[in-house]
Amino acid sequence: MSVKVCKFGGTSMADAEAIKRVKNIIDGDFSRRFAVVSAPGKRFPTDKKVTDLLLECHGELLRKGSCKGGFSLVRSRFSGIVSNLGLTLDVNAILDATFERIEREKSEQFTASRGEYLCGIIAASYFKMPFVDAEHIIYFNDDGTLNADKTYKAVAASANEYGKAVIPGFYGADDSGRIRTFSRGGSDITGAVVARAVNASVYENWTDVSGVLACDPNIVDSPRTIAALSYGELRALTSMGADVLHGDSVFPVGKARIPIRVKNVFKPDDEGTTINRDGKIIPDGGAVVGVAGRKDFTIVQIEKPLIGSLSEVVGKALSVFKAENALVRQIRTGLDRLSFALEKIRATEGVLAKIIDGINREIQADDVTVIENVALVAAVTHKGLLTADASARLFKAVAAANIAPITFGTDEFGVVIGVENKDCERCIKAIYHEFF
Ligand code: ASP
Repeated sequence: MSVKVCKFGGTSMADAEAIKRVKNIIDGDFSRRFAVVSAPGKRFPTDKKVTDLLLECHGELLRKGSCKGGFSLVRSRFSGIVSNLGLTLDVNAILDATFERIEREKSEQFTASRGEYLCGIIAASYFKMPFVDAEHIIYFNDDGTLNADKTYKAVAASANEYGKAVIPGFYGADDSGRIRTFSRGGSDITGAVVARAVNASVYENWTDVSGVLACDPNIVDSPRTIAALSYGELRALTSMGADVLHGDSVFPVGKARIPIRVKNVFKPDDEGTTINRDGKIIPDGGAVVGVAGRKDFTIVQIEKPLIGSLSEVVGKALSVFKAENALVRQIRTGLDRLSFALEKIRATEGVLAKIIDGINREIQADDVTVIENVALVAAVTHKGLLTADASARLFKAVAAANIAPITFGTDEFGVVIGVENKDCERCIKAIYHEFF
């Protein structure tokens, strides 16, 4: 029988009304047997996510020795939800125990995880499904990575035992029983891990938009929804800042070729976006699937005749960056020039100066040039292919917007253009409007 794993994001769990909507979605399809839930998100633009309230609690606990004040906000969010759902659940007792453990453990990750934990218990009670605590089925290694083998076995065993369940996203436990979390937005990863473990027919990721958008809606009004894209294309868009689902969630399902469907809780009948191995060209989208961009990269260009010593020079440069904890996003090699795009560098700590010193010391370069405040804009194309016509259109559109690229190149997912930070949005807009 086909099994669907559904992940419901923060907006879908924000209040009692939202949770009722989610129940209708689950009840509407018998195969929706596993629901992974996030902590309640924002109810209105100026509202706070429960996870952020909890992180503030942790700060307050460290500062004042208690987080009673901050926790009262968390308490009222959850008790409000329980009473508006008309549940008889003794939520105060659960909140008391949670508060006590937060103050005892003084662990940031434990505290942050409680939004999902509490939301999971409430949702399970309302959906009339068993609650399976992620603490007992999602396992982390000591270095904070997922212990995949142990996790898949534990999730599969528990799925067999219960047949259906509500599982809180975002956290699990390490071998010593300490609670660990994924990075922010990590409930998407939990959903993907559960989908893989139960060999789901589909991983439904329910959000508040009808799928993955071809562009940031803050940059272009009502951008097109992408009907289908490949796992890799999704990663390319998310790594460039597209606010979709957590980029790492494609790994567990991608390996098992389980499709992801991004769906809208407010418009459940909308098709949404399907993410699978092959994706699909949008008929009128030409070769470009979506456009995204991120600011604040620093480009470091090293000039030196490289023939015969390329790997040595690259290796030395990488160790300099590593020593300063600078993350390399891109490496481009030319005949006599190596160029690295580094993620935002903490200028205040003099990191850039140390990097330049290190490069000069390790590599006797002819010249080192640094270009700061660069945005990388990615035009993600189907299977990384770009027809001559599409390529001409793309660069013509950028030129017509009066933008001179600082760097550009191709990777396996399309074209990446480096522009000045200030041109980022205009560049995205120009490419979007050319292709959509
Ligand atoms: N609640 C966590 C966050 O706000 C995890 C998630 O929503 O996926 O990041």
